[in-house]
Amino acid sequence: NNPTDISKYKQIILKNWTYYNKQYKSKNEKQVSDKINHQLLTSLQSKNINRYKTTLKNINFLLKYEQDSAYLQRRNFLLKYKQMEDYIFYSQILIIIFVLMFMAIIIYNAITHNKALALLNEKYKIEANTDGLTTLYNRKYFDTVFKDLTSISSSNNWNSVFVMIDIDFFKQYNDTYGHDAGDIALKKVATTLDTYFNKKYEYTFRLGGEEFGIIIFNASINYIKSSLDNLQNQIQRLQIEHKASATKYLTLSMGVISIDKNSYKLSTKELYKKADEKLYFSKENGRNKYTI
Ligand code: GH3
Ligand code: MG
Ligand code: MG
Repeated sequence: NNPTDISKYKQIILKNWTYYNKQYKSKNEKQVSDKINHQLLTSLQSKNINRYKTTLKNINFLLKYEQDSAYLQRRNFLLKYKQMEDYIFYSQILIIIFVLMFMAIIIYNAITHNKALALLNEKYKIEANTDGLTTLYNRKYFDTVFKDLTSISSSNNWNSVFVMIDIDFFKQYNDTYGHDAGDIALKKVATTLDTYFNKKYEYTFRLGGEEFGIIIFNASINYIKSSLDNLQNQIQRLQIEHKASATKYLTLSMGVISIDKNSYKLSTKELYKKADEKLYFSKENGRNKYTI
């Protein structure tokens, strides 16, 4: 009933309302609060308390509405937040699985590729040094070993040996039995040479055509003589028929050079030529023999 009190309360009500009305509002809430704002200002000017009461009701309704919708929004937000958390968690697991699979594929490929490369290298290493038909060392490999023959022999003080071998009347063998039979005979001779000269420091080569070479490091002349005698016996025992030959079987002629430290003064070319001369001598003197 005191007019001073009333105006004081009105000021407090206005201050509180203004504070509340300044807070963030949705579009719908803003429409309602604007209306209430108008109602409140008029009700505060009016002498009728009932107008103010109605306004209060409206304010309470607005507050309740805001609380309810805030509760709903928070609930929805938390739900979505949980879903998002799950989504991120499973995405991370999927990404890790993909990365691991990808790495496994890369590692697997690298390993198999390396394996294939190693096999390929091994194959080429062998193929580069061996003859396709007989699987003996080839001419290329012979050249490298032959190049070192004198230096290795002299530095070790060894007596070493180079044997040049040529099949007798082989052209006629092909003419009589055919080229395929010729290949088979070549392989038999190659296998015999390779199995006989299989000790340490003994190397058997196919020099080309029906010609073979044997290099033996650290071998005495006596050892060589008995070895070549045995070899000729073994070839004889193979009994490869050769009608056009005087012996009626396939035979070998050989030229042998012995290499000691003095041989170092000769070039490989000269050594090879000397062996060839000895072979020619064997051929000229009836074949099926060796000349040292
Ligand atoms: P010689 O006793 O004087 O050595 O007479 P030859 O007939 O053995 O010598 P020649 O050099 O006249 O002939 C060698 C033959 O070797 C001719 C060639 O057709 C044959 N020949 C060379 N390489 C191969 C081969 O890989 N397979 C076959 N089947 N024959 C070959
Ligand atoms: Mg020949
Ligand atoms: Mg020949």
